[in-house]
Amino acid sequence: MSISRAIGEQMDRSSWIRRMFEIGIQLRRERGAANVFDFTLGNPDVEPPGAVIDALRHVAAKNRPRSHGYMPNAGFPEVRSVMARQLAARTGLPFTSDDMIMTNGAAGAINTVLKALLDPGDEAIVLSPYFPEYRFYIENHGGRAVMVETGARFQPDVGRIARAITPRTKAIILNSPNNPTGAVYSAEVLRELDDMVRDPVIVICDEPYRPIVFDGVKPPETLSLIRRAVLAWSWSKAMAIAGERIGYLAISPRLPEAAPLRNACTFANRVLGYINAPAIWQWVVAEVPEVTVDVAQYQAKRDLLCDALSAMGYEAPRPQGSFYVFPKTPIPDDIEFIGILQSEGILAVPGSGFGRPGYMRLSLTIPRRDLEASLAGFGRAIQSVCGGVACETARS
Ligand code: PLP
Repeated sequence: MSISRAIGEQMDRSSWIRRMFEIGIQLRRERGAANVFDFTLGNPDVEPPGAVIDALRHVAAKNRPRSHGYMPNAGFPEVRSVMARQLAARTGLPFTSDDMIMTNGAAGAINTVLKALLDPGDEAIVLSPYFPEYRFYIENHGGRAVMVETGARFQPDVGRIARAITPRTKAIILNSPNNPTGAVYSAEVLRELDDMVRDPVIVICDEPYRPIVFDGVKPPETLSLIRRAVLAWSWSKAMAIAGERIGYLAISPRLPEAAPLRNACTFANRVLGYINAPAIWQWVVAEVPEVTVDVAQYQAKRDLLCDALSAMGYEAPRPQGSFYVFPKTPIPDDIEFIGILQSEGILAVPGSGFGRPGYMRLSLTIPRRDLEASLAGFGRAIQSVCGGVACETARS
């Protein structure tokens, strides 16, 4: 198969987000930018906290000798020590710098560990609805993504996961707070998962939204609850620095195979072409590892959007965290409803793009004034399909 055909096929199967981006360009041309309300991208709309920019200035001014050269592939040992101390304090586990690999964001961390774990034909379980890129990360390394539906309130269904495990299963990917559902996985369900997971399966905990939580929710400490876990972390959302590509992979010291897995991941990080995580940003996050953006603004937009949609008749429960609201579409055909929203200038991603038709994903990174201006269009869209009838009736 030609490269362009293979890429075309991948694009067809993949990115609704990308497709909506292109539709957005066309809509802006037709209606004018002020009349287009883009809920598609999870790109932070706030500036990084001042402390992060101060640390960046400080690191640049300090100009450590050889701070722009190659380094050990896992990252600067001093930086990894800072991260290990932070994780040890959080989890009560004896993390050391050896357990930490600095990566190109969470995406780099997940690709690194999948490269280390998967042989061609091996399987990795993904919980549905899912972040669409997981499928490609798994296929990048010859693996096969096995989708398993979540249960009530989008929590993992451990029975279903257990039934999906085969002798080829090497990994389960968890994402909490979740993209696209906003669910935060409960300690109870994580404990249940821990009881079920056996060698050689590794649980990859993808948590770039960990600090983006609302109403005082505290996400359970996955590494403390799941023994066979690795953590993929990044500061993309926490510090609103998604373009800087900085994160880490932490390998639980409780894994009996921690030492060979660390070596395999360090090698994979290099041969995937990342070589090492961005040098300057390693020093920056080491100065202010726990600084995060103010989540109150996201929570305020969540409340405004969910309350307004619910009052109009949408089923739009408030998410506990992440950047996303995941309402049901008032008609079962989510793609048709996304088209109706487009005629109101509203861009949303259909649930089908995340493996869950009948829903849509709305990102809270939209500017507040656009969110406010979009609400009338959401009202007209539901009226046009439900016509004043209760929408559950229209769905059935
Ligand atoms: N995992 C999930 C669930 C995401 O939503 C994203 C980005 O949006 C990533 C991983 C990638 O994160 P990063 O930009 O830190 O690589």
